[in-house]
Amino acid sequence: MYAMVLDSPGAPLRSDERTEAPRPGPQEISIEIRACGVCRTDLHIVDGELAHPKLPLIPGHEIVGRVASVGSEVSGYRRGDLVGVPWLAWTCGECAYCRAGRENLCDRARFTGYDVDGGFAQFTVADARFVLPIPSRWEDVEAAPLLCAGLIGYRALRLSGGGKRVGFYGFGAAAHIAVQVALYRGQSVYAFTRPDDTHGQQFARSLGAQWAGGSDERPPEPLDAALIFAPVGPLVPAALAATAKGGTVVCAGIHMSDIPAFPYDVLWGERIVRSVANLTRKDGEEFFAMAEAARVRTVTTPFPLAGANEALDRLRDGLLEGAAVLVP
Ligand SMILES: [Zn+2]
Ligand SMILES: [Zn+2]
Repeated sequence: MYAMVLDSPGAPLRSDERTEAPRPGPQEISIEIRACGVCRTDLHIVDGELAHPKLPLIPGHEIVGRVASVGSEVSGYRRGDLVGVPWLAWTCGECAYCRAGRENLCDRARFTGYDVDGGFAQFTVADARFVLPIPSRWEDVEAAPLLCAGLIGYRALRLSGGGKRVGFYGFGAAAHIAVQVALYRGQSVYAFTRPDDTHGQQFARSLGAQWAGGSDERPPEPLDAALIFAPVGPLVPAALAATAKGGTVVCAGIHMSDIPAFPYDVLWGERIVRSVANLTRKDGEEFFAMAEAARVRTVTTPFPLAGANEALDRLRDGLLEGAAVLVP
């Protein structure tokens, strides 16, 4: 099997030819990968901004593929089923978080393409209990970004308080999906891009944003909530300043540059700043049901598997509209 492998953070991925595809354990399924999205978290891992990945590592946690074989203890999946593998690869089921239905915070959680090999490959194995069935509404490539960008965006939106006016800082893969869910829920969308990114602002308007501008601008009305998808700490005080009393600012990324000091005034008035970490399997079920109802479409740029480094470079340089997806 062919795979793209990270040997050490900071270096490009290496293409690797293996004589055998991984075999599923008793509770695992083996998957022939049809598409795997490239997420900003992959970039943080490759660039060394997230500590202690498994090495060598096959990155990728937005996997869409067909079940190739099932382990002896797996029920509910058959060869040929279309499935998705998200970031959450395994949780312990025993810690206080798991027992409280907050498995996204599990003390011993393992993550796809970080603690276990992911989807920048032709085949992978995954614990069947953490795999999501993929509805047939979407093409393989179109479905891939839903597995992380879509899921995390949904969780961020869900935890942002349900107010009418929602701001999106950083208009990439996650925002372009979450915007469609927000509009379906009857919310108004305000898009903030890099100050000179008129193309991105146009893209946001084409998806239904009521207003689009630079992240250094104030929206025409104060926001009820703001979701930050760009890994840029100074956006936190900027978003708070654009948010009305009682509003929530959600940091949706796994990594962010330092947040600068800011006057207490911008937090005063019961404004909330919070992060969103990982996802639960329940988020996955809810999100796919809502994405189907909202008829979510994704904008993708496909790359061959061997083009993984180019896809990561384009993501790093902010040169992608929507999401990059690797096709083996
Ligand atoms: Zn746990
Ligand atoms: Zn991700």
